[in-house]
Amino acid sequence: MSEHNLTWRVGAVTITRITEFEGPGGLSRYLPDATRERVREIDWLQPHFATDEGRLIGAIHALVIETPDARIVVDTCVGNDKQREVPAWNQLQTSFLDDMAEAGYGADSIDIVMCTHLHVDHVGWNTKLVDEVWIPTFANARYLFGRTEYDFWAARGDDPRFGPVFSDSVKPVFDAGLVDLVETDHQVAPGVRLTSTPGHTPGHVSVLIESKGEQAFITGDMLHHPCQMAHPEWGAVVDEDKPQAVQTRHDVFSRFAGTPTLVIGTHFAAPTAGRIVRDGDAYRLDVKARNPKPNCGGDDA
Ligand SMILES: [Zn+2]
Repeated sequence: MSEHNLTWRVGAVTITRITEFEGPGGLSRYLPDATRERVREIDWLQPHFATDEGRLIGAIHALVIETPDARIVVDTCVGNDKQREVPAWNQLQTSFLDDMAEAGYGADSIDIVMCTHLHVDHVGWNTKLVDEVWIPTFANARYLFGRTEYDFWAARGDDPRFGPVFSDSVKPVFDAGLVDLVETDHQVAPGVRLTSTPGHTPGHVSVLIESKGEQAFITGDMLHHPCQMAHPEWGAVVDEDKPQAVQTRHDVFSRFAGTPTLVIGTHFAAPTAGRIVRDGDAYRLDVKARNPKPNCGGDDA
């Protein structure tokens, strides 16, 4: 198993991170307010989420939710072999699928693929290239896309900033009949449901997991980096509706601040998860308490 895989227990549910990329660089172009000087002022970001020079550290990873009922992949990263405008993502070749299989999650064993939104780094492994054709990677899965989100991108088509994302990573699974368009409060499986977190994209959702009195929350891109807990007003250049995105961050941070809910960031570098706590007028991520219970044994699987 890759040393970058992390696993959390939430009641009877296991959540495993499968990492495609992790490191400094890349994020600052999306978060222009997060200059090195401003990032250095947020001392709790070091060492996990920022370097001592104030460079942001981020990650691209999928999160596999294993419940007693279903195996669910949340977000599918950039993917291999794709023509992309971002140089670091163009014609990528990683061992992502092998890493997933080594972690116990062969592609054919996945029941559900859930994309929090349809951006380039959340849909890539929806498909893989076989004999010059994009085919669904998770052949036995239903792919769940938000109806609002799908309609938005189906009307807009490929985003020239990133490449033929809709054409090579969304449309092929739709055409294969594997897609279910769902509402923003959809119950994905018992104990796993979506929650609307708009702003970054019109139909953006986050994922709430509840089991045996414990709770976890997968952010998607309602924020990209923990520095936005200190500054909820710091938006991403790719946020479609910037005021709505700021409002969503305030709403979510205030909802979970001081609670035991494990917040798992879709682009947070290791340790990737923690609890939100109030910090002056804003918030911070407490990664010391990154499991809902201090003693998260495997006694009740
Ligand atoms: Zn995004």
